Amino acid sequence: MKLRTKIHLYSSVLFALLFLTTNLIVYIVFSTMTLQQQQSRVESQTNKTADNMRQSSVDTPAADLLRAYVPIEGMIRIVRETGSNTLLVTSAAQQQLAQRPVKYMEERTAEIITYEQQRYVFVSVPVIWNDGQVVDIQITESLRQTEEYLRALRIVLLIVTGLAMIPVFLSGHVLGRIIIRPIAAITATMRDIRRSGQFQRLTMPPASSDELYEMSATFNSMMDLLESNYDKQKQFVSNASHELRTPLTIIESYASLLKRRGRDRPDLFEESVEAIHSEAIRMKEMTEQLLMLARHEEQWNLTVEPVNLLEQAQQLVREFDTAYHRRIEMRIDPELEKQPELLVIQTDAGKLRQMMFILLDNARKYSSDDIIIELTVEHLLPPSGSAGKTQNTAAIPSNRCIKIIDHGIGIPAADLDKVFDRFYRVDEARVRQDTGGSGLGLTLARRIAEALGASIRLESTAGQGTSAILSLPETSAPLPSFSANSN
Ligand code: ADP
Repeated sequence: MKLRTKIHLYSSVLFALLFLTTNLIVYIVFSTMTLQQQQSRVESQTNKTADNMRQSSVDTPAADLLRAYVPIEGMIRIVRETGSNTLLVTSAAQQQLAQRPVKYMEERTAEIITYEQQRYVFVSVPVIWNDGQVVDIQITESLRQTEEYLRALRIVLLIVTGLAMIPVFLSGHVLGRIIIRPIAAITATMRDIRRSGQFQRLTMPPASSDELYEMSATFNSMMDLLESNYDKQKQFVSNASHELRTPLTIIESYASLLKRRGRDRPDLFEESVEAIHSEAIRMKEMTEQLLMLARHEEQWNLTVEPVNLLEQAQQLVREFDTAYHRRIEMRIDPELEKQPELLVIQTDAGKLRQMMFILLDNARKYSSDDIIIELTVEHLLPPSGSAGKTQNTAAIPSNRCIKIIDHGIGIPAADLDKVFDRFYRVDEARVRQDTGGSGLGLTLARRIAEALGASIRLESTAGQGTSAILSLPETSAPLPSFSANSN
């Protein structure tokens, strides 16, 4: 069954039941009260009749007395204990009551009886008759009029229920349509997306704060996200295959050269093996970086522990000196020298090292002079409202900064933001040929920084040099997950 039909059916059935139950209760209460009232009325009327009859003169014939007290629609009867010598008078419309069997009642009785499919109030009052015997004065009065009123009430209540169901039926229909319309639109859009392979959006209804509007808005924003992720993935795959094609072509051409002439030309052999080896290493590095970028933070297995920044920096300095014979000068902020415990922060040692390595390696690749590593403390601004008040500087939260300064080729201002994009290289042809860079280093460094709650920024002047500034919090609280645009 369709959702719309279900909503329509359930709301209509529910309201119909509600109306019927309410009206049934109203009817039962009203009819019970009316019948009780009729019974009490006939009862008090019988008592009054009995009193009057007792007080009436002995000479008045009993039949005349009865005629005087017979109800408009009913019967009055005097019943002796023996059940014989019954005197009765019936109204013109109720003569059939005379056939009703006679029964002497010892006790005062008042009840509603059914005789020949008609209901009556029957009241029997025992009295001492003028001859000294106990007799019953019995009045039987028809409830025809009351029943007619009750029948009219039943019809009115049924008509009211029927009329009340019309708006309920219509509103169920409208409600079903209102709820179903956005769902049907989403389903149709999804079908279109599947058929056409294009990301599509819903036409938004006028702004409101209801859940259906929210659902449509969420669907559209989800489509935006999916489309942008899809585009990024597409771009990423095409970039990656493009980037890998170049080293593969170099390897292939050198391998062909070796195959053809390698045996006769030992000089060619040396050059080819060297080129194949360096391209293979570059491909390996690029693949590793690509894999890491493609992974989610949860798969990085971050381990936050106390890490001494000075020790980390010194180790890298030694490694660069050994591997590249590049001198790296260390500078430490006097505040850090005074308080060496500030050099220890809570972070992931491996990831910090990887970030520093990328920045140092860039400084090495794009400069030929000495490189400087500067360790400083960056006091964060005190919270607003406390401005002007004297405050203990130790209480102000601070970041640790690692500044890597080179005096190399620098980065033109226009490229400063773009260098964090995947595969972006300034002056691509020259840089790639000279340094073998992949354009992924800074992208990866920024991703790691985000994961550690740190930040990286570059200050650079073309032709003069670059400073890469890594700002680390005292304690790294890894982000719960990467945002969609962190690529
Ligand atoms: P790559 O592997 O090419 O170095 P990166 O993402 O690390 O990739 O850097 C992107 C580009 O930014 C580099 O190709 C280079 O043009 C520029 N760049 C990065 N660091 C420096 C620097 N210290 N000096 C000059 N240019 C730099």
